[in-house]
Amino acid sequence: MKAFDLSGKVAIVTGGNGGIGLAMAQGLAGAGASIVVAGRNEQKNAAAVDALGKAGAKAVSVPFEATDESAGRKTADAALQEFGRIDILVNNAGTAIRKRPEDTSLAEWHQVMNTNLTSTFACAQACYPHMVKAGGGKVISIGSMLSMFGSQFHASYGASKGGIVQLTRSLAAAWAKDNIQCNALLPGWIDTELTRRGRVEMPGLNERVMARTPAGRWGLPGDFAGIAVFLASSASNFITGTAIPVDGGYSIQV
Ligand code: NDP
Repeated sequence: MKAFDLSGKVAIVTGGNGGIGLAMAQGLAGAGASIVVAGRNEQKNAAAVDALGKAGAKAVSVPFEATDESAGRKTADAALQEFGRIDILVNNAGTAIRKRPEDTSLAEWHQVMNTNLTSTFACAQACYPHMVKAGGGKVISIGSMLSMFGSQFHASYGASKGGIVQLTRSLAAAWAKDNIQCNALLPGWIDTELTRRGRVEMPGLNERVMARTPAGRWGLPGDFAGIAVFLASSASNFITGTAIPVDGGYSIQV
């Protein structure tokens, strides 16, 4: 369907070298977009570019350290140099430090806030003029169930992910005039490296997730491919500032 076609579009995906980020990159590539994988781990970057290339996509990787304040600008520069334009930004790189608030150091707070929230702002700001030049754009930022709920072990992560929803609304309000739509996705419990660690650290997590999720399963990275294409394409041109749960129903019942 033409409304979902991303041929000729260029997408930057931060943390696009694995997990949810790679699945979204694969979805966007499948719809025709060229992909810039902005990732930290070089081996994972190479494997992601290889997988995207084997599937027929044009893809490159750019070294990306989210806590480096110039990372957004460097990534935008690299995307322009490689592909000449930027249409889509997926702010996906994210981290969590599982600690009670009273045990969280300020350095840990900043690590999480800078990786998840400040980097999202910096990347969006760096891409903005190029999206304007392209005649419009799409910013998709990854929040969490902790964009909505509290957690005694995740004050910094929850603050950063709640901030992503509010940042998304403000960017959407500011940039609608430029035909740039900004939306957030709120993953439920998804089976990735991030949560595999959590399952070891939190006994009983698997049982709690299964009991509360109406879909009766953990999410898979591939569950994000379709919604990424939708939010990156002209099919969603009148949708902006939203935060869409992708959670198998986790957030709709107590
Ligand atoms: P992964 O651990 O597979 O992916 C996290 C990605 O973020 C990796 O590519 C990692 O890079 C990157 N990253 C982390 N810190 C940095 C940094 N300082 N600089 C650059 N890149 C960094 O987990 P997911 O795929 O699950 O996570 C993707 C997003 O989804 C995150 O924002 C996460 O918070 C969010 N999310 C995930 C949920 C889940 O259940 N899995 C639930 C809610 C939200 P590298 O590997 O190269 O170090």
